[in-house]
Amino acid sequence: TQYVYRFGGGVSDGGKGDRNLLGGKGANLAEMASIGLPVPPGFTISTEMCTRYYEEGQSFPESLRAEVANGIAHIEAVTGKKFGVAADPLLVSVRSGARASMPGMMDTVLNLGLNDETVAGLAAISGDDRFAWDSYRRFIQMYSDVVLELDHGAFEEALEIAKEDKGYSLDTELSAADWQALVKRYKAIVEEQWGKPFPQDVHEQLWGAVGAVFGSWQSERAKVYRRLNDIPADWGTAVNVQAMVFGNMGDTSATGVAFTRDPSKGDRAYYGEFLINAQGEDVVAGIRTPQYLTRAAREAAGAKPLSMEEAMPEVYGQLAKVFDLLETHYRDMQDIEFTVERGHLWMLQTRNGKRTAKAALKIAVDMANEGLISEEEAVARVDPAALDQLLHPTLDPNAPRDVIAKGLPASPGAASGIAVFDSDTAEHRAELGDAVILVRVETSPEDIHGMHAAKGILTARGGMTSHAAVVARGMGRPCVSGVGSLAIDAKARLFRVGGREVKEGDVITIDGSTGEVMVGKVATVEPELAGDFGVLMGWADKVRRLKVRANAETPLDCKTARTFGAEGVGLCRTEHMFFDAARITAVRQMILAEDEKGRRVALEKLLPEQRGDFVQIFEIMAGLPVTIRLLDPPLHEFLPHAEEEFSEVAEAAGVGVEALKRRAAELHEFNPMLGHRGCRLGVTYPEIYEMQARAIFEAAVAVAEKSGAAPIPEVMVPLVATKRELELMKDVIDSTAKAVFAEKGRTIDYLVGTMIELPRAALKAGEIAEVAEFFSFGTNDLTQTTLGVSRDDAGRFLTTYVDKGIYARDPFVSLDVEGVGELIELAAERGRKTRPGIKLGICGEHGGDPASIAFCEETGLDYVSASPYRVPIARLAAAQAAL
Ligand code: PEP
Ligand code: MG
Repeated sequence: TQYVYRFGGGVSDGGKGDRNLLGGKGANLAEMASIGLPVPPGFTISTEMCTRYYEEGQSFPESLRAEVANGIAHIEAVTGKKFGVAADPLLVSVRSGARASMPGMMDTVLNLGLNDETVAGLAAISGDDRFAWDSYRRFIQMYSDVVLELDHGAFEEALEIAKEDKGYSLDTELSAADWQALVKRYKAIVEEQWGKPFPQDVHEQLWGAVGAVFGSWQSERAKVYRRLNDIPADWGTAVNVQAMVFGNMGDTSATGVAFTRDPSKGDRAYYGEFLINAQGEDVVAGIRTPQYLTRAAREAAGAKPLSMEEAMPEVYGQLAKVFDLLETHYRDMQDIEFTVERGHLWMLQTRNGKRTAKAALKIAVDMANEGLISEEEAVARVDPAALDQLLHPTLDPNAPRDVIAKGLPASPGAASGIAVFDSDTAEHRAELGDAVILVRVETSPEDIHGMHAAKGILTARGGMTSHAAVVARGMGRPCVSGVGSLAIDAKARLFRVGGREVKEGDVITIDGSTGEVMVGKVATVEPELAGDFGVLMGWADKVRRLKVRANAETPLDCKTARTFGAEGVGLCRTEHMFFDAARITAVRQMILAEDEKGRRVALEKLLPEQRGDFVQIFEIMAGLPVTIRLLDPPLHEFLPHAEEEFSEVAEAAGVGVEALKRRAAELHEFNPMLGHRGCRLGVTYPEIYEMQARAIFEAAVAVAEKSGAAPIPEVMVPLVATKRELELMKDVIDSTAKAVFAEKGRTIDYLVGTMIELPRAALKAGEIAEVAEFFSFGTNDLTQTTLGVSRDDAGRFLTTYVDKGIYARDPFVSLDVEGVGELIELAAERGRKTRPGIKLGICGEHGGDPASIAFCEETGLDYVSASPYRVPIARLAAAQAAL
């Protein structure tokens, strides 16, 4: 096997297709060299060597010696310099370069090849003693740190002492003689700490550095980075050995980093920074303030120091040509490192540049319009999850922030407002015109009005699918959940965290995209939906097969959903309609009634209200399918708590308060999530579902009569486990439909179907499909019941599970494709066998998650349904899945 690949000086043993073998940096250096760009000559030791290095107990095969010698000979031939020869010494850099970029995770050694003799040669050739001795001391310091793993504090201390002795404050004040004296001191430190003198043999230096770079692949920080970024350990890193070029050889030398387009806004303008008379690390390290690349950028910033365009017009002209060439060649925005050595331009790196969501969108659309990429490629280029950043107000990145705690980024967007600790106060203060942030230990359905009135929601408990998270995403409210460090004292109306105290009325800011909680107001910027966003969405819609619907139950949600391009409602959770202040008393009366007769009295009051809800929704969703789910949650969620609530209900129902309280106690359940909920309510109290069905059909008939466009109701029964349950419920629905149609003299097409959210339902899908006309996978509950993990309490341990790799991602956020996914596949297959063409959708939170959407595409579902603000994400993800 060949392990060494050369580049530069008209030679390229590899190219950009060799990323796996040569790492990103090595492959792109070879590619740049092959298209004739000025790349300092060098060679790459492949990632295969890294693997072998570890297989063979961290040692190198004998054959590698000859290959590396060849590589060095190549560099010598191109540069005319000689490695280890004082007359005109070759210096090299030794850098890592993996398949995926791992910024700062692995080791680098610069100026390698310097020793007591070659330093003199470098001084003579450069005509600059100070430069030579400074380079040597930098090398000793870096090598001792990276390769010899000595304590770098000792070197920094020695430098500080040297400066103090001379009364200097800056490194730049040190003279050649000062650096030379420091080199002596540095070498003494090496001998003290290492027990041996600093290696003078340049080949020994080289092998030490190569070993250190391979060794850094298994460093703790590299391992952590790989785990966080899903990079497999067996990829290994390559090592790049390359002739040094110097940006610090006086005022005709410089070094810089650049992007071919603005990585933050996406504008088509070169963007970057450079420093005259500096080494690469100086630009990044922020010791000196870098200068602008272009005159336009300098003028826009009102900065004084000349731009590169002005200070070095000729080299800048060459650089601009290189930018254009690289962008056309790679067909993407490039992130570039370059050095100018005494007026000569050298390219040190190019790669596809990281960018903000906004820039990604603009660059993709622009490049397609420029003809550089196709519309499909543009669609594939934008990360759907990143769109989240664009659809909500975001914190002004330039505004200062005082972060006091961090929780889960449960619902994106940012908001500032006064802290309030209960939903009634939230509503009240909002009515008075205050922006409020609702702070709760956790939220329950009773907080809906407070959440609605609030600009943002902050909870101390609960995961990514906790009530607060799900409802906030649905409403498009920013939410930070599960901030374990918050000590909330709702009675005293304050919370404490990290020694700070926030009282009701104090202004706080939350960032639901990062999970940060801040004290005070932080300025935000509004999203922009027109323009590039609309164009890219249009292209996405052309290629996607999956339909995208929304989970929506209020007219506002439905309108938002349509604005974002929803093609119907995939889940209308009717229970949310029951919490309305005007109806909650009737709802409670229904629940607490002793018998069917009592329930029917209360249901009579609810019927017109519920019908009104559906009329509004059908009107907004004219001509589109609307899936309405019959009542699902355990009844106790609606129970009164406060004394005056009990007396209100008692009065409405004409019964005693004590009797009501007894009845409420009877409704207590030990495990309500697995209790009297879902279709079990409909089985025990069919009159509830009957009322809901009547409201649906009466509303459908009314809208059809008024507008001519008949809605398409899809009536959905929750938490079904057996065919018989669905059969019973379908009878109730069908007979109600029949009755309404007879009364009104008009028929409407409708479907009756079921959610699949229990493992038994998935297994028996073949039988259930004999009754069900559609399935909608309720993957929130299906995940909860398949994994046996409570969706409301999982936050406490799931992060540990993800850290330990038990689940790759939070299974309530991204579908557990292997487990829950298998149940979905099986149910889809069995359902289709019974009823070919049965309509299949997904309405759990996963319907808005790109990875889960890809799974839905593979499984051939008909649609995904996501909360309104995630509809665009789902449209884009569905398009990418179809490509
Ligand atoms: C589900 O369980 O996936 C679902 C959509 O229903 P809910 O979240 O209302 O339980
Ligand atoms: Mg459910």
